[in-house]
Amino acid sequence: MPELPEVETARLCLERWARGRQVRGVLVRERRVVAKGGPPLAKLVGARFVGFDRRGKHLLIGLHAKGKPLGLWSHLGMSGKWLRRKTGEEPPRFSRVQIDLSGGVTLHYADLRLFGRLRLVPGAAFEKLPAVAALGPDPLHEGVDPDRLGERLQRSRKAVKPQLLDQRLAAGVGNIQASEALFRAGIDPRRPGRSLARAELARLARGIRASIDYSLADLRKQIGATGGRDVQYVEEPAGPNPFRVYDRANEPCPRCRRGTITRLIQDARSTFFCPRCQK
Ligand SMILES: [Zn+2]
Repeated sequence: MPELPEVETARLCLERWARGRQVRGVLVRERRVVAKGGPPLAKLVGARFVGFDRRGKHLLIGLHAKGKPLGLWSHLGMSGKWLRRKTGEEPPRFSRVQIDLSGGVTLHYADLRLFGRLRLVPGAAFEKLPAVAALGPDPLHEGVDPDRLGERLQRSRKAVKPQLLDQRLAAGVGNIQASEALFRAGIDPRRPGRSLARAELARLARGIRASIDYSLADLRKQIGATGGRDVQYVEEPAGPNPFRVYDRANEPCPRCRRGTITRLIQDARSTFFCPRCQK
């Protein structure tokens, strides 16, 4: 499932592929991926791509339409991807929306499971979308502040791992990054978030940032960010599991070597951790 690093990578690709290009045509193949409430996507025709922002897992794309700002909001849900093809080329599998651009470039929003959503935002006023307005600080833009994290964790009795999935804490952290960050911080995911001491909060804040930076570097290697417009999004995940603990149940702990990575279910989501060195 796309988390901050994957969405940031999608942002980078879209910027390389679409910056300065004008929309020539829009084809919606599956209406379910268009969120209700916005103008029809056909309003994109004639607009030019100018800005490529991200906040947490939300893509906030800016266009100019007849001299006025227009926003394209995109959330990738469980399996959404932005892909590039030459105009006229066969669409990729699960292409739900196709946007033809000047210069012979076509963007496809592909989504197997149909949980992702797109929406046009008049005036590019993204802050008016409740899901965007509710987001906490973005770890890449604003860092992770241990004091603020501690203050937020105090507000619930839940275990720290499910708490980290709350997008008001550190926007963009999902199930993978939460397990990875807690492993890096040496904190047991079952502990109540409110029990974390100051030094542990500082370690967790560093762990979140380090885990995201690591994933970003790994994805950048995969897409071959060689510059220019040649960057290609990796369409099918390949290569070995890059994570320290995620999806590594029953393997030896890569840090203490004596513990065994254990999988447990918290709030219906998998958590991976080392019971020996995460206290
Ligand atoms: Zn360990």
